[in-house]
Parts: sequence; structure tokens; C-alpha cells
Amino acid sequence: VVQISGLHKSFGSLEVLRGIDLDIKPGEVVCVIGPSGSGKSTLLRCVNLLEQPTRGDIIVEGFLLTHPDANLDLARRQIGMVFQQFNLFGHMTVLDNVTIAQRKVLGRSESDAKKIALEQLDKVGVAEKANQYPSKLSGGQQQRVAIARALAMGPTLMLFDEPTSALDPELVGDVLTVMRSLADDGMTMMVVTHEMAFARDVADRVVFMDGGVIVEEGPPRSVLEEPQEQRTRTFLRRVL
Ligand code: ATP
Ligand code: MG
Repeated sequence: VVQISGLHKSFGSLEVLRGIDLDIKPGEVVCVIGPSGSGKSTLLRCVNLLEQPTRGDIIVEGFLLTHPDANLDLARRQIGMVFQQFNLFGHMTVLDNVTIAQRKVLGRSESDAKKIALEQLDKVGVAEKANQYPSKLSGGQQQRVAIARALAMGPTLMLFDEPTSALDPELVGDVLTVMRSLADDGMTMMVVTHEMAFARDVADRVVFMDGGVIVEEGPPRSVLEEPQEQRTRTFLRRVL
């Protein structure tokens, strides 16, 4: 689904990504871990071109996103993204939040969009909040609405950037449960997270980044339990 090769990203003289190569297969769940500032968010944002790479190629579902003539709108429809801050539209109901892009971007009819929205809201367990405004929902419910909104677009790839980091501890579990069932359903996912238990149980592969490079990657058991690199060990000692 995703092929990243030789990816570099600089902000001015600051080199944030220094040559990332990463392939993700259909249905694979890749968790990205690493210290603050290591470039995790930048990597994710490059995958849907929220950031323009300085160098290197990104292919998603056969689209060469980094091609100068790439149809980014078309390519981005394949990619759903969920952020740490839920980024819902506060002046719209939950239902409108989940239907607006379906209607504006995909051109779905109001009734189709509504039907799909309610299906997705039901799937993440917040269908009964459809007519509420986001401010009436808990953080965990808002984040599940954000996931439903992304899913309603029918993405083939979902990107999550620390989706539970802004939540009160007791609300984290519901969001992780939704993500886990999405993984079980075969969604291809790239997840930046500090939730090591989620990485261990759900990821097919864990990628440890530091200083803008992938230091180590592999099945969760090897990276998290038998890391080969000193930098990985030092990081894990701090977070586990
Ligand atoms: P965290 O765990 O704290 O979220 P991260 O691994 O996601 O960290 P990034 O957000 O990718 O790290 O940032 C990597 C580096 O790039 C940091 O030094 C950051 O200050 C810098 N950076 C990120 N975005 C920009 C930007 N738009 N302009 C300038 N510098 C940026
Ligand atoms: Mg980040």
C-alpha cells in the first residue's frame, strides 16, 4: 500500500527526516515509536503530503505522491488521518462533521452520506451522539467521531498521530478498542503512539525512530523485548 524511499525533510537548516525507507503491506499495522522530536509526526505528515518532502519518493496505492503532477486530492482520499487533537468542527453537529467531506469531496448525496456516517458512528460506539455538538462529548467520544469521519471516506490507509495522548487515562481504552477492531478488520494502519501495550498486541511491525532515521524495526516482540540497538534500549527503559 505504501512505499517510502529515501525520504528527507528539512525545515530550513534543520534536517528532520534523514533518509527513511519503509514499505507497508496491505492490512499491516505499523506502530512508530521514538523520542520527542525524532520526526514521527513529520513522517506521518509527509505520507499524505501535509508536509512537502525535501527529497525522496512516496507511493500510496500506486500513486506517486511526490510526482510534481500528482493529483493530490485523489491520492489523499485514500488516506484517513487522526490527530492528537481531534480537530472536529465545533460549530457542526457530530453528524455534519462526518457527512461534510463525503458530500463536498466525494459528491455523495445527503442521504447516502448520512447513512454511511451513521454506520461508522455506530461502529465506533457514538451513534447516539449524532445530533450533539462536539463540545458535549468526552474527549474519547470526540476522538471516536474523528475516526468515524476518516473512515466514512473509505480510506485504504489510516494514519494516527498519538490519537490517545490528549485523553484522560480512563478514556484511552475505548479509543484503543476501536483502533484494535479496525486492525482486526484488515485496515492498513500507521500509528504513532506511546501506548506500548497497544504496539505489542496490535502491531505487525514496530518502527523505532531517533534523529530522523529508522534505528530499528521488526515484529513487536523483537523490537520491544529484545532490541538490538543501544538507542532503542535507552528509549524503552524510559517509557516502559
Ligand atoms: P513528538 O513525540 O514530540 O510529537 P515527533 O517525533 O513527532 O515528536 P516532529 O513533530 O516530527 O517530532 O518534529 C521533529 C522536529 O522537526 C522537531 O525538532 C520540530 O521542532 C521540527 N519541526 C516540526 N515541524 C516543523 C515546522 N513546521 N517548522 C519547523 N520545524 C518543525
Ligand atoms: Mg509528534
